Amino acid sequence: MTLSLNSTVRLNNGIQIPRIGFGVYQIPAGKVTTNAVKYALKVGYKHIDTAKIYGNESDVGKAIEESDQRREDIFVTTKVWNSDQGYDSTLKAFEGSLKRLGLSYVDLYLIHWPVEKKITETWKAMTQLLKNDKVRAIGVSNYSVNELNETLQSSDITPAINQVGFHPFLYQKELLEFCKNKSIQLEAYSPLTRGKRLKHPNLLEMARKYNKTPAQILVRWSLQHDLVVIPKSSHEERILENSQVFDLNIDQSDTSVLDSLNENLRTVFLD
Ligand code: NDP
Repeated sequence: MTLSLNSTVRLNNGIQIPRIGFGVYQIPAGKVTTNAVKYALKVGYKHIDTAKIYGNESDVGKAIEESDQRREDIFVTTKVWNSDQGYDSTLKAFEGSLKRLGLSYVDLYLIHWPVEKKITETWKAMTQLLKNDKVRAIGVSNYSVNELNETLQSSDITPAINQVGFHPFLYQKELLEFCKNKSIQLEAYSPLTRGKRLKHPNLLEMARKYNKTPAQILVRWSLQHDLVVIPKSSHEERILENSQVFDLNIDQSDTSVLDSLNENLRTVFLD
């Protein structure tokens, strides 16, 4: 697998998404986010993942504006928060995100979490944004097979992406298979287990063997499972480190070891 930070995967509507993105959840608003995103763009990331609820969309926008990159060369994702779901309120929330980002379109807009009884109408608003060329692709996040089925039954537009927690300790194999069969690209959030398993003995052993770090092993594992992956760090050396995974190939036996570590570890609920 010859990959680089420029490598993309084609979504079900033909749009290309960079395989590695930079996540900005929990990076403090203001200069810290702007500097982190600027640094990520400088070292070659082409894809930034934010959300209204992260409170740093305007700092992401500022970094894009101040970077040397052309807008069209950067892939920007943001998300509609739970309390904004519903048809009109989603459209309104989108305009707010666009304004804070200072952009004329976003590349990918996601429903952040499934909200009971709002799945259909929120999705309808998302499809309207797509038809109005406000977004290049639409998708969902934290959706189970049932919630994906509900969405698929309600609309002739299939989500391009399902962004979920995914790493060896949360190896959601059935969801991955389901999404592959439906042409929904799975995107791995918290790919570094939010730091909770970086000292796992198997990871430490592989890091030594491949002369890489545990974080790099995890990013590479996601790529080798055909995922789009969005590690986060607020430290420059780690932002760079997490992107240096292209001279690494985890062999079959080590992949099997990593694949056997699942413990349904949902770090998103641990803070
Ligand atoms: P990650 O798995 O990316 O882990 C981030 C943590 O790992 C931080 O504590 C970071 O610390 C640390 N870290 C980063 N790089 C290294 C490294 N090389 N060595 C050691 N420690 C490291 O967790 P996230 O939950 O942030 O997930 C990534 C992104 O996914 C988010 O930023 C967000 O964009 C998205 N996301 C989406 C969700 C959704 O509901 N759709 C939910 C959660 C995340 P430090 O910053 O101090 O370097």
